[in-house]
Amino acid sequence: LAKSLGGNTVRFFAADMAPRATQRAQMEGELRDALKRRDFVLYYQPLIDLRRNAVIGAEALLRWSHPQRGVLAPGAFLGLAEESGLIVPINEWVLREACRQGAQWRGAGLGPLRIAVNLSPIQFRRQQVGELVRDVLEDSGFPPDLLDLELTEGILIDYDETVTEQMHLLRSLGVSLSVDDFGTGYSSLNYIRNFPLHRLKIDRSFVKDLANDPRALAIVRTIIDLGHILNLQVVAEGVEEGAQLETLRAEGCDEVQGYYFSPPVPADVFARWLAQRDGERAVASAD
Ligand code: C2E
Ligand code: MG
Ligand code: MG
Ligand code: MG
Repeated sequence: LAKSLGGNTVRFFAADMAPRATQRAQMEGELRDALKRRDFVLYYQPLIDLRRNAVIGAEALLRWSHPQRGVLAPGAFLGLAEESGLIVPINEWVLREACRQGAQWRGAGLGPLRIAVNLSPIQFRRQQVGELVRDVLEDSGFPPDLLDLELTEGILIDYDETVTEQMHLLRSLGVSLSVDDFGTGYSSLNYIRNFPLHRLKIDRSFVKDLANDPRALAIVRTIIDLGHILNLQVVAEGVEEGAQLETLRAEGCDEVQGYYFSPPVPADVFARWLAQRDGERAVASAD
């Protein structure tokens, strides 16, 4: 095995031994190269409408196709990307690529599919996000009402005039805005009032314990009620088991995503999965 891995093993062993700062500098260099070489790829995870039991879209999730280490999830590089500011051009690519893919699927007759894109708080500080989104929509021809931007609670709490301005520009473009990982960040509910939001995404930590922790159930129920009273859709992430799905359905949750349906997969795999699912459903309803 060592032999087949060749020089890379040696290189990474050496990197592991290097001081932290050197390691970070090396990885930052690799991230920069990845950006130049377009070594990033988007995976897509289906979003399911619970009432219609239909796929209504997908969340685009960033992967780094690393030349030695294989496909890396954001957990392995997002922190560094944010600290170095590289997340700004990377996330700009994400937005462009997601809208390009969305427009292509549309042209191919798939959907209509809503595409959800995660934004970084750093973008709001260093970039005119509203203008970027407007340009990307224009260039791609992707319909604004099918683009959903996922924001973290952090950006909504720690806001200033610029953030508020960007948020209203985004809303005026016709895109929708979701709060990601809802319930994990801060307890302030004030921002829900102050921003033109469409959706709350319940963090998967609550969904995970749904079946065996009455407190998790109480929190999920409360988030769903809060969302609905405020006219927001509620999405649950991290659904892995049928029991969780049934509880969420009974509680009136609007949409779900999770391994129960599909993990995030490359675009072509997603399209095949969708076609196969539609095919099976057509056969089932013809019976
Ligand atoms: P997120 O936006 O909350 O995305 C959901 C994460 O949960 C994804 O992890 C997904 O793979 C994972 N997940 C989905 N269903 C299940 C399930 O049933 N069980 C379990 N255990 N996990 C599930 P992933 O792809 O590793 O992404 C992690 C985080 O990285 C995302 O969390 C998001 O905050 C961030 N991220 C992903 N793509 C981007 C991007 O393009 N830009 C920015 N700024 N952040 C991104
Ligand atoms: Mg997300
Ligand atoms: Mg989330
Ligand atoms: Mg999450």
